[in-house]
Amino acid sequence: MSICNNIKHLKASLPEGVTLVAVSKYHPKEAILEAYNAGQRIFGESRAQELVAKEKSLPADIEWHFIGQLQTNKVKEIASFIHTIHSIDSLKLINETEKQAAKQNRIIRILLEIHLAQEATKSGFTPEECKNLLSTLSLKDYPHLQIDGLMTMATNTENTEQIHQEFRRLRILFEELKNSYFQNSANFTVLSMGMSADYPIAISEGSNMIRIGSKIFEVRE
Ligand SMILES: *Cc1c(COP(=O)(O)O)cnc(C)c1O
Repeated sequence: MSICNNIKHLKASLPEGVTLVAVSKYHPKEAILEAYNAGQRIFGESRAQELVAKEKSLPADIEWHFIGQLQTNKVKEIASFIHTIHSIDSLKLINETEKQAAKQNRIIRILLEIHLAQEATKSGFTPEECKNLLSTLSLKDYPHLQIDGLMTMATNTENTEQIHQEFRRLRILFEELKNSYFQNSANFTVLSMGMSADYPIAISEGSNMIRIGSKIFEVRE
């Protein structure tokens, strides 16, 4: 199987309305170009430095998504081109992203990362923190941000029922927040959940954006 075949098979298997983010972290630009030539345009990276280098040398119509933990001082490095940041996990990061997007005179889309997994290493707001944040945030103070939805990573476990439950909790939270804070808005439509190991479960629980790395880029001989 080649990267091109992996992309084609994966895309053909996805229900309509599910957006594929090809997670190209650690993979060279040649691999990204192969996926690009197979028609893929949305790529996800998790380190600012690596992303900046790749962005410079790859086609300009790629839609870049940032999916890794983002330090506040790195936002300015990616602000001129980043399409969506999936990993917004603090008010400080929200404020800095607004500031840098304003400097670039553009809008950056963000997803609020929610911590549901039973692993302390994963980051994100708890559901309570997220509700508190949205109830105090005045969206008109953030004219250069578009809050598109939520993102999570499930626990890395063999227990598929647990994974189902975590994704289900995100979808329920998403609907609750949409009804409370985005009722009259066309925004807040993205539920980013599901990686190579668990994306079928995520889709069955309502995901409409999956982030797939190894299943695309790890080519078996
Ligand atoms: C690496 C990564 C992915 C992709 O993981 P795979 O298991 O390679 O599909 C998705 N989301 C995040 C946040 C990641 O860091």
